[in-house]
Amino acid sequence: MEAVKDNYLANHFIHRSNWLRAAVLGANDGILSTASLAIGVSAASDLREPIIVATLAGLVAGALSMAAGEFVSVSSQTDVEKADIEREKLELSEMPEIELLRLSEIYEQRGLTKETALKVATELTAHDALGAHIRDELGINDVSQAKPLQAAWASGAAFSVGGILPLLVTLFVPLPQMEYYLYGFALFFLILLGIVAAKTGGSSISKAILRITLWGTVAMGLTALVGYLFGVNLG
Ligand SMILES: [Zn+2]
Repeated sequence: MEAVKDNYLANHFIHRSNWLRAAVLGANDGILSTASLAIGVSAASDLREPIIVATLAGLVAGALSMAAGEFVSVSSQTDVEKADIEREKLELSEMPEIELLRLSEIYEQRGLTKETALKVATELTAHDALGAHIRDELGINDVSQAKPLQAAWASGAAFSVGGILPLLVTLFVPLPQMEYYLYGFALFFLILLGIVAAKTGGSSISKAILRITLWGTVAMGLTALVGYLFGVNLG
């Protein structure tokens, strides 16, 4: 029985969605914002040191703000879930009959006959009333349940992994063509990430590549322009 459950869990993309979304978002952001920052500074500066320092500072600041942002947003989701569960407990203790009918209606809407729905609701209520309502009425389950610390770590770590790539580029490529190397490498890393995300998530690879190339070019292009204009003014 356990083997069937594990196999079912492994086969569906939805079960990979939470950490995948945070990881891909984080890595994508890490590559794009760090590379754009590096491109902007290298368009304005003829020295390697300021580019490396700015890229490193951007990497650290970005990773921390990404983790903090994810933690805060997922924590508020946890708060909402907790408040809903408390309200559910109250409703179950104050009006168990109405709650039983509500659960039965949910199963009816899912296609069971009135009799079967009531029978299922009665048996599940007898077995674990709160569990049944949390899962089937509130829609909170193991997969969707918010895990703030996990999400914060995942996106902070992913941002760092993504951001380290452009930083490595600023350390080793020739200074005069730095912007072009940064753009080329960043686009390559972004496309690679897009392919991994599309394959794991079961979505279209060509669409993912197109989307990333377009928005990556816009973001890095505009930052280079700002850096170049700034550089000219610095003279
Ligand atoms: Zn309920």
